[in-house]
Amino acid sequence: MSIHDPMSRQILEAVPNAALLVDRQGLIAFANAHALNLFGYTEEELLNQTIETLLPERFHAGHSRLLQSFLSSPKSRPMGEGRELFGYRKDGTEFPIEIGLNPLEIEDGLMVLTSIVDTTRRDEYEQTLRANNALLAERNHLLNSFSSMGQVALSSFDLEQILDRLGEEFIRAGIFRSLMIALIDYDAGHAQVVRGFHSNQQGNQPIIKKLEIAQEQGEYLSVPLDGNSILADITRRGKTEVIEGWDDRFDAQISGPEDHRDKISYFIPVKRDDQVLAILATGSRLAEREEHLRSLDAMQPLLDLFSISLSNAYFYRQIQETQQQLVATTQTAKDANQAKSEFLANMSHEIRTPMNAVIGMANLLDDTDLTADQREYLGAIRISADVLLQLLNDILDISKIEAGKLALDSVAFPLKETLETVFKTQTYQAQDKGLELHFHMDDKLPAALVGDPIRLRQIVLNLLSNAVKFTSQGEVAIEVSAEATNNDQVDLHVAVRDTGIGIAADKLDAIFEVFAQADASTTRLYGGTGLGLAISSRLVDMMGGRIWVDSREGEGSTFHFTAQLGIGSIETKSQPSPLPKPLGNKALRVLLVEDNTFNQMVAGGQLKQRGYECSIAANGRKALDFIESGESFDLVLMDVQMPVMDGLEATRRIRAHEEGSGNHIPIIGLTAHAMRSDEEQCLQAGMDFYLSKPYKAEDLDKIIKQIAGEIDLSQRTESTEQPLQPEGLTLNRQGILEAFEHDNELIQSLVELFFKEYPLQLNAIRSAIDARDGDGLARASHALKGMVSTWQHDDSTAVVHRLQQMGSENDFSEAESVYAKLVDQLTALRPPLEPLSQS
Ligand code: ADP
Repeated sequence: MSIHDPMSRQILEAVPNAALLVDRQGLIAFANAHALNLFGYTEEELLNQTIETLLPERFHAGHSRLLQSFLSSPKSRPMGEGRELFGYRKDGTEFPIEIGLNPLEIEDGLMVLTSIVDTTRRDEYEQTLRANNALLAERNHLLNSFSSMGQVALSSFDLEQILDRLGEEFIRAGIFRSLMIALIDYDAGHAQVVRGFHSNQQGNQPIIKKLEIAQEQGEYLSVPLDGNSILADITRRGKTEVIEGWDDRFDAQISGPEDHRDKISYFIPVKRDDQVLAILATGSRLAEREEHLRSLDAMQPLLDLFSISLSNAYFYRQIQETQQQLVATTQTAKDANQAKSEFLANMSHEIRTPMNAVIGMANLLDDTDLTADQREYLGAIRISADVLLQLLNDILDISKIEAGKLALDSVAFPLKETLETVFKTQTYQAQDKGLELHFHMDDKLPAALVGDPIRLRQIVLNLLSNAVKFTSQGEVAIEVSAEATNNDQVDLHVAVRDTGIGIAADKLDAIFEVFAQADASTTRLYGGTGLGLAISSRLVDMMGGRIWVDSREGEGSTFHFTAQLGIGSIETKSQPSPLPKPLGNKALRVLLVEDNTFNQMVAGGQLKQRGYECSIAANGRKALDFIESGESFDLVLMDVQMPVMDGLEATRRIRAHEEGSGNHIPIIGLTAHAMRSDEEQCLQAGMDFYLSKPYKAEDLDKIIKQIAGEIDLSQRTESTEQPLQPEGLTLNRQGILEAFEHDNELIQSLVELFFKEYPLQLNAIRSAIDARDGDGLARASHALKGMVSTWQHDDSTAVVHRLQQMGSENDFSEAESVYAKLVDQLTALRPPLEPLSQS
């Protein structure tokens, strides 16, 4: 082989690197195209030049030494091992190379085959590789920090934990050595430095130190937002600030005092919806400025996560605070409500006692000789008193329920009769308005149920009277059925349907609230207090049922309620008299124990009116004196609350006194508190009955009748000096009885209703006359005529009829005199009607 052999040249040309053949004198005998390109020569220029031509001068001496040693012991080796070598181009530029030397024995003698690699590119690659690796490592930290911070953002609402985690992750990301966190408190008007961290790099793992933020540094750490500080500035502008130098205020927090200079600080706002929530501060060397600004960009997602975590934590804290406030407020409201209910319950009682006196005195006054004017005024007093008493009863009911002091009875009662009596009380009113009234009860319902018939009646009465009140034409119907029945319980379902004014959809829920009426004009048009449905709905609740209404404005309403009641049986018992009471033929002697003079007059007056003998004791002690002195009474009416000795104590002593004598004087307790507990106390003390004040005369009568047993009280009444029919008006009792098929209960309710209702109509007539309102007069007179005609007393009916005519003709010339006559007639009707109400 020779270098002049085309075959050898071809082989050397195919080598991927620059290749040269150098002879023993160091002269270049051959250079391939790569080599010519690399060094920028033509073949002619390079041939027979020394190899040093291709090296910078500083390598010449070393190279010729190397060549000599190679020629003395020729074997392949790299040149300049471990040292950086540079090539030297024709244009004078240098570039890094590596050289390999190989011996080549050919015809031309020993040649040195020199291969040269340009390492410029390789260096570049390696640098990029190293930079990439560093970036990757950094990004890897960041990625870990993102996911870790992301978890915190998703799982923690704990502000302290979030701050600690951010500090750690920020530093662990490996870009910055320190971090200060300040939170912006807009309410307090300051930025508060809450955390400082810095790291001591040890190997790859930073040791993160959380700096104590001491209380005494407070003045540095709480920065007012309206000042000129950098924190206030960033809070306002919401932009990252880069400051050359190091702010001493944070320096103490973030790094040691040793290296302040040549530093740069970054203040980065953490924002949510354009509002700065926090500011982070960190620092680096001045030279790293650009690189670190880029890193901060890369860290933006971490800061976003922090901002989400922060808002979550704030939001959560707000919820917690609101919740705590809510709990506190609810408790206060509950306490206040309980106190209010108790106050109302007590108040309405306190008011009922004097109300009792007012009504009682008015009743007594009514039975005396009065002028027409006086009677009219009295009528007005009685109407107002009745309305007030009804309101008091309602308030008492609702407050007793709300104070948890109303207990339901559990007695067996006949279902049909119980509901029918309610129904009957409304027949008159319905008839008068021209309404049809229907009552239907499912045959399959048990005859007797166990529960509280009085409260059941109260609910039905409320629904039914509302239905009649709010309906001007069409019909009102009660449907009673069983929703479900098992062996000992029935879910009663009562529906009261009317074709009245209906209720607007948006008021359907509200009407069950206390004092709620569907329309502000309701009170004006129909009266009422807005308490009826509220009481009903609470009673229904207590009976384990629910109440609701289906209604369309203008088309009518159906009120439904259910109640869980037991199934019972009622024996027709011949009630054993609880009192062994031998009564003679003499007038009943009653001992009234009462400290209040008004009440003494009221109760005493009632008793005397009934022809009873009445002695009065002003307190329990005096009552005991009467009894112990051997005076005998048929009955004691005992007030409970009295000075000196109360009714309970007096009763206990009377019973003790009776012991062994076989005597038992009936004692009726008069309680001022209609709370069940008071009533129980009465019975425990030894009383036989109780009446809660204000009681109705009829209630007292009923009890007395029960005690007196066979005694004919009507005979006694004849013996009284005060005649029951002062005006001498007589009624066709037989006629009335026949008209109502001897249904005493119905007649009784009609009389009661008449007494309640006629004063209202009388009032309306009075107002219409005063206002010269012909239509109003005709309407009110018509309504009253319906009621009065029930009693088949032609004169009375004629007077009302006359008024109605005058109204239609708008003629008021005789209004005053006819009105006076009407008042006289109505007053005269009362005495003969009263016994009917007690039959
Ligand atoms: P009151 O009847 O004393 O106002 P309630 O609590 O019994 O109080 O009724 C509350 C309100 O519900 C009434 O004022 C009325 O607006 C409405 N309401 C009740 N029953 C009916 C009904 N059958 N038809 C139309 N509205 C009714």
